[in-house]
Amino acid sequence: MNIILLGPPGAGKGTQARRLVEARDMIQLSTGDMLRDARKSGTEIGKIVAEVMDRGDLVTDEIVIGLIEERLNGERKGGFIFDGFPRTLAQADALGDLLQKHNQSLDAVVEMQVDDDALVARITARSTCGNCGEGYNDFAKPIPADNKCTVCGASDFKRRADDNEESLKQRLMEYYKKTSPLLGYYYAKGDLRTVDGLAEIDQVAASIAAVLG
Ligand code: ADP
Repeated sequence: MNIILLGPPGAGKGTQARRLVEARDMIQLSTGDMLRDARKSGTEIGKIVAEVMDRGDLVTDEIVIGLIEERLNGERKGGFIFDGFPRTLAQADALGDLLQKHNQSLDAVVEMQVDDDALVARITARSTCGNCGEGYNDFAKPIPADNKCTVCGASDFKRRADDNEESLKQRLMEYYKKTSPLLGYYYAKGDLRTVDGLAEIDQVAASIAAVLG
C-alpha cells in the first residue's frame, strides 16, 4: 500500500508516519527529513536548502522530486508513506508519473485536519530526540524529568531551526498557497480521506487505520 499524509506543518504527519512504519512495516519517505540530512552533510545542495528551509519557503520541485525518485528505486516493504511530499501540484504530477513508471499506484491520500491556532501552539512547543527521532511536546508529552528519551534513553533533544513563529507563518502561507490545492486534486481523483488531526495521537492513529481499511 502506498499513501500520502497531507496536512499543514505541525499536523502530526511525522508522528503518524512513525506509527504506520511500526504497525504495517511501511517505509516513511519524509522529504523534510531527507532535506535536513542533506543540510547536515554540508554538500552544496545542503547549503542551498538550509537557507530556504529556515525562511520557511519551499525547496525547488526539482530537488525534492530527485530525492523521492532515488528512494523509489530502493526497497519497498509494506509500501511507502509519503510524508511532506508532494507539496505542489507539479510534485503531485511527478509522483503520479514516478509511481506509474515503477508499476505502483497510490492507495490513499490521508488529510490530517488541524486548525491554525493548534498548529502554532504545537510547533513552538515541540522537540525530538536527536538519536531516535521520538517526538516530544512541552505540554502534551514533555521530556522526562531524568532528561532521557523514553524510547532509546539518549539525552540529546533538539528543536528545529524553522520551528519559530516567523518561519512558521511563512510555512503556513506556503501551505495555503501551494499545498492546499492538492486537497481538491486528490479529491477529484477519488483518493482523499480526511481524519481529525486534533484528537489524541492514538485516536488519530485509529482513524487513519479505519480509513485505510
Ligand atoms: P513541516 O511539515 O513541519 O513544515 P517538514 O519537515 O515536512 O516540516 O519540512 C520542513 C521544510 O523542508 C519545509 O518548510 C520546506 O522548506 C522543506 N520541504 C520539505 N518537503 C518539501 C517538499 N516536498 N517541497 C518543497 N520543500 C519541502
